Amino acid sequence: MKIDYREIGLKVGLEIHRQLDTRHKLFCDCPTTPREGGREIVFIRWLREAQSELGEVDPAALFESRKRRMIVYHADTENTCLVELDEEPPHDLNREAVEIALTAALMMNARPVDEIHVMRKIVIDGSNTTGFQRTCVIALGGEIEVDGKKIPIQTITLEEDAARIIEQKPHEVHYDLSRLGIPLIEVSTAPVINSPEEAYNVAYAIGRILRATRRVKRGIGTVRQDLNISITGGALVEIKGVQELELLPKVVELEVIRQLHLLKIRDELRSRGVSEDDLKREPIKDVTSIFVKTSSKILRRRIEGGGVVLALRLKGFGGLLGLEAAPGIRLGAELAGRARAWSEVEGIFHTDELPGYGISGEEVMRLREEVGAGDLDAVVIVAAERERAEDALERVRERAIEALYGVPPETRGARPDGTTIYLRPRPGAARMYPETDIPPLPLPREYVEEIKRRLPPSLDEVAEWISRRYGVSKQIADELIDSEKVEIFERVVGETGIQPSIAASILVEHMKSLRREGYEVEKIREEDLLEFFRRVVRGELAKEAAPEIIKWLAQNPDKSLDDAVNALGLKAVSLEEVKARIAELMEANRDLVRSNPGKAISVIMGELMKTYRGRFDGGKLYQLVSQAVYGQVRD
Ligand SMILES: [Zn+2]
Repeated sequence: MKIDYREIGLKVGLEIHRQLDTRHKLFCDCPTTPREGGREIVFIRWLREAQSELGEVDPAALFESRKRRMIVYHADTENTCLVELDEEPPHDLNREAVEIALTAALMMNARPVDEIHVMRKIVIDGSNTTGFQRTCVIALGGEIEVDGKKIPIQTITLEEDAARIIEQKPHEVHYDLSRLGIPLIEVSTAPVINSPEEAYNVAYAIGRILRATRRVKRGIGTVRQDLNISITGGALVEIKGVQELELLPKVVELEVIRQLHLLKIRDELRSRGVSEDDLKREPIKDVTSIFVKTSSKILRRRIEGGGVVLALRLKGFGGLLGLEAAPGIRLGAELAGRARAWSEVEGIFHTDELPGYGISGEEVMRLREEVGAGDLDAVVIVAAERERAEDALERVRERAIEALYGVPPETRGARPDGTTIYLRPRPGAARMYPETDIPPLPLPREYVEEIKRRLPPSLDEVAEWISRRYGVSKQIADELIDSEKVEIFERVVGETGIQPSIAASILVEHMKSLRREGYEVEKIREEDLLEFFRRVVRGELAKEAAPEIIKWLAQNPDKSLDDAVNALGLKAVSLEEVKARIAELMEANRDLVRSNPGKAISVIMGELMKTYRGRFDGGKLYQLVSQAVYGQVRD
């Protein structure tokens, strides 16, 4: 489907989050990088309903608190202290983080605030031990230019990163506290982006400015992008947690398709005369008896466990639940997503997808009869304990009513394929209040001016410099920067003395193509790469071994370079051994060497490469063979 994004009034705003590479966390002295050797502390908390100081309950907070989940925290004594455990008040705001955020803000022409006020933002999914996330505005009203268009930067804020989920079960969630409190910069643009490509270009430009500070973290999990997306007649939908920059255009495109699809369904429902009153009046029915002998495993398991199967007829929804606008984008998925998020049910089905999943045609017929569903009606069934099943179907009813009005405003989560899933309602305005444990931090004009004088060069300037300093092309320099390999490149060249073009081609080209083949090259430790280049320089490994070694290390991220060398049989060979082998091959091909030296070289090289590929430098090998062959010819 070709979409005219201007025609449909697409508006996208971005929130780019990136971890800062500070020595300490934002409100305590714990390190921001994992350290070995700590003791693990495990403790449990229960979610509670949080009220703002005005006494209002935030809709997003209410959503979490009704789930009554047990939260299990795993803390490591090496990177968590009493602050993360919420047993001690936060320390003062980390000055190093403030300085980095200010640097980025000034590079985006934003206006720093006179005084930093730390606020509490209610987040009670358990990702913060306190029930809120601390956040503070550093600067306002910036602007960057992307492809000739001015993109307003509304705010630049500093916040504490949340704990990371390590395990999730229906009534229980486990968090690792290592990440909690790592400083995070958040850059928010105005919703002026009008196409999926532009979303990518703007995020890329902001990423380059942040990286130009040279004080942001790199690698998996250090960047998260949130988007808010709307189209004319649709609604503002917030999408959280896009980790890959490359995925942004797809997320935007799929969200537009989803909103257009929901608008189309709204029109169809209206033309079918479906009314909110009918939906509200529809009773929920117990249809367990139909399924006592079902071959659907999931229904049977629920029934045997004491649960029930409940059904809700959706008058006029027949055929619309299963209608697919793009893979995974169906109204049926929306209803199920809402029910799953609120009531944590698993066994949920609708008649547009039945018979199927072990549910027979006869069972569907009896179900339709039981609830009085006509041809244009759909029926949704849920199998769970009675209370939970009722709750889930109330959510389905609520979401079905919203379908009459088009697109519901909500917060959704991005999945790796670019589709999204319902997370929770959009938070209300009552969600922020002042953090009274931390005094405001004034930003004197002289201090800001000082940072302004010391702004780092842009990445374009850095690329120029790298290109000149190391004699690599501007394109290679840009690729080193974009693949975030500059630091390791400079270390490799500086510490090993390897030719810069060799280091660049392995770090950029080899790693990029292996990544495209699906190898998780980001997992390789910098120390192992460094050691690889050291050995190449010492002649203990051939640079040709790079692809094999990189592949192996990507697949075995816990192993070392030594393990790779052993596993791949790349043990170094001595020059003597190679020379002896060449002499043998010369002898074996004596006639050919005399009659056709060129051919002889390629035959001998072919033999040698079978044994020495990756263990001895190819160029050097070729040199030795030609010397030997032509030496003999001359004799
Ligand atoms: Zn700490």
